[in-house]
Amino acid sequence: MRTETRPRRRIARKRHYCNGCGTTAIAPGQPYLSGTVFPGHDLIQTTIPLRLAECGDCATRYGRAHLLGDASETIAAALDRAHNEGERSR
Ligand SMILES: [Zn+2]
Repeated sequence: MRTETRPRRRIARKRHYCNGCGTTAIAPGQPYLSGTVFPGHDLIQTTIPLRLAECGDCATRYGRAHLLGDASETIAAALDRAHNEGERSR
């Protein structure tokens, strides 16, 4: 049984490393996919919930680039939206 959340688009507020390729740095302002894996997952063994990040290249490779949304969005617009989303979640 898989136990994980559906990957969703986020805008990086700090630097992340992609858990897919393990090498690509996700810079602040860049869109990436984030999902959480819970204990009991059939592929990833963990005793605590793990939040995973996936870069645009990996999202494309695994056929979920559409989840990243509009690639033409500027970094400034993305940061502004991330800021506004942060305001709402407070
Ligand atoms: Zn990657």
